[in-house]
Order: sequence, then C-alpha cells, then structure tokens
Amino acid sequence: MSAARPAAVTVHDAHKWYGAHQVLAGIELTVQPGQVTVIIGPSGSGKSTLLRAVNHLEKLDIGHVTVNGEPIGVRHHRGRLKEISERAILAQRRGIGFVFQGFHLFPHLTVLENVAAAPAAAKRKSRAEAAELARTLLGRVGLADKVDAYPRQLSGGQQQRVAIARALALEPGVILFDEPTSALDPELVGEVLSVIKDLATGGTTLIVVTHEIGFAREIADTVVFLDGGRIVEQGPPDRVLDRPEHPRTREFLSKVL
Ligand code: ADP
Ligand code: MG
Repeated sequence: MSAARPAAVTVHDAHKWYGAHQVLAGIELTVQPGQVTVIIGPSGSGKSTLLRAVNHLEKLDIGHVTVNGEPIGVRHHRGRLKEISERAILAQRRGIGFVFQGFHLFPHLTVLENVAAAPAAAKRKSRAEAAELARTLLGRVGLADKVDAYPRQLSGGQQQRVAIARALALEPGVILFDEPTSALDPELVGEVLSVIKDLATGGTTLIVVTHEIGFAREIADTVVFLDGGRIVEQGPPDRVLDRPEHPRTREFLSKVL
C-alpha cells in the first residue's frame, strides 16, 4: 500500500466557549490538498473562530487541528498532548496563510517590502531573493506597477491583493480567507475575487469564509454551512446551495441570495 498524502487540514471535535457562550460545538472538517472549502453562515455562527483555531490564533477548549498531518499548537508526549512553545506555534503559522477582512499591511513599508518582509525574516532568504519573489507574486496579483507605492496610496482592492501576495510569499500549504471582500467598496470586490479564483484553479488549498454565494458556487469543491457553532450541512456547491436539505440552510440562503 502506498502512503496516503495527509489531509491539508483536519479539524476534529472542535469545541470552544467564551465564558458560558459556546461558539464551536463539535466541528469535524477535512480539507484535502488542492481543495477549496467555502464556509458560509450567519454572523456570530463561529466562522472566524473556526478559521482562527486552524492557525492557533484561538485555542480550542476541546478538540484538535492538523495541517499537513502535523498537530497545531500541541505535540504528542508520552501518550498525551502537550502545548508547544509560542515560538514553535509561530513557526507553524508560517505554513498557514491568513488573509483578513481588513488588510493589515505595514503602513510604513512599500508594497514590495510588505510582501518581501516575511520570507526574508522567516525563511532566511536573502533580501534580493525575497524581493525577487515579491515582484513575481505582485505580478501574479496584477500589481507589478505598484511595487514602490505605500499602502495608503492604494485602493482597498489593491491593498487586499497585496495582502494575498504577502500570504503567498511564505509558500503556505493552505491559505485561510476571512471575509476577504467584506470591507471593500462593491466595485472593488471583483478584482479580489478574481485573484482568489486564480489561486483556486491553480491548485492552492483554500478555506474561504465569504457571503459571496455566487463566488462560492464558482470556486468551492465543498461548501460548509455553519450555524450556532455546528456544521448544519456540507457538500458540493450544487447540492448545498441549490438543493439544501436543512431548513436553516434554506432560510439563510433566502436572506443572502
Ligand atoms: P462569525 O465569524 O461567524 O461572525 P465569530 O467566530 O466571530 O462568528 O463569533 C462567534 C461568537 O463568538 C459570536 O457570538 C461572538 O460575539 C463571540 N466571540 C467572538 N470572539 C469573542 C471573544 N474574543 N470574546 C467573547 N466572545 C467572542
Ligand atoms: Mg467572522
């Protein structure tokens, strides 16, 4: 038997409370390499918490996450799970891209420097190599002519494309997107979705939280509908979006479509 490639991401039995308020109530999720998973659901259903648990920005109270077969935030020690150091968590995070709703660029760095900073620091690429990689990635997101600009000189859509190039710069095994177009003016949404779609068709493993249902239908291998911290249903987009089985999914879709 040949060794199977590990799943890109697994989430097992994920539970999370904020005080008495349960936000994740037993999530099971598997994302295979090269697959695109889109998470939809009402505000407050736990979508961001779930994404943030994948790269250990939130710690689960119960359950665990693996990325490329490696447990995140913990290690096995004498048959038990032990927390790993902050430093080890930071190293794991470098293998997981994260693109937020707000763009979180460094305002005092140029576009090129924003993208080149992480690979120069983390992977000990030379400055020249990191800059070369940054130029290539900025070309890929259509910003070759903006390398010397500062974030404040760019539109929101351009800033978000820089953030995507920056996530790509560490050559992550998976990229997580948390409502990447929610902060954008409507006319700028398309250019960002188009870049994400290129990644999806190019075989990058993606988990995308979005309210753009048409976009979900186009790029998703799997759509996950989350409500009240539970996965209500998941499956291919034509089934979940066009023929949802659960009344809660139908009700949600009738509101956002
Ligand atoms: P979504 O992204 O689906 O809108 P979130 O994961 O952000 O949902 O939040 C789920 C629930 O957890 C919400 O009720 C939210 O108010 C609550 N919540 C999120 N973060 C915190 C926090 N740091 N402290 C307390 N409650 C939080
Ligand atoms: Mg959210």
